[in-house]
Amino acid sequence: MQTERIILEVPTQALHVKHASCLNGHSLMDPSVPINGFPSIKIILQYGDAKGIVHLDPVYGSFHNIFDVDIPEGVVVKMFCPTCGVDMQIPGERVCDWCFSPLFQFYLPKGGVLEGCLKVGCHQHKLKLVDVDEQLGIIHGRNQIQLLM
Ligand SMILES: [Zn+2]
Ligand SMILES: [Zn+2]
Repeated sequence: MQTERIILEVPTQALHVKHASCLNGHSLMDPSVPINGFPSIKIILQYGDAKGIVHLDPVYGSFHNIFDVDIPEGVVVKMFCPTCGVDMQIPGERVCDWCFSPLFQFYLPKGGVLEGCLKVGCHQHKLKLVDVDEQLGIIHGRNQIQLLM
C-alpha cells in the first residue's frame, strides 16, 4: 500500500506523545514517571560501558529528560526498548539533518513515526504522520495542538 508521509512543523511544546512504541509494538510510555504532567517515554540508553534507563520528556520540543545513567553531552548513544531490547536506530544511511548522527525512531499509532537524533544534546526531531486528518485531533488556540497518538 502506498502511503503519503507528511512532515509536520509545529510550534515547540504544542503537543505531546501519548502512545509511542518500539518496532515490536511494546509501549514505551511510563505513567509512573511523569514529566511535564504526562507519562514519560522510557528507553534504555547505552554509551560505551554506561547503560541505563532514561525517561524522555513526552512533550514535543521540550527536553526535561531524566537520566538514570551518566552520559556526557555530545556523544552518540544507542537506544533500546526496555521490554524486548530491540535497537531503535533507523537502519540504513539516514542521518540527522543537523549533525549527521544516526537517528532513532518511535512508532506511533496508525503508521506515524517520531524520529530523533541519537546524539545527546542534539534536539533534532521530526514527526511524520500518515493520514493527518485522522491523527490531528483538537486544535486548542494558536499554539496548542493535541495529537491523538
Ligand atoms: Zn520492544
Ligand atoms: Zn543531530
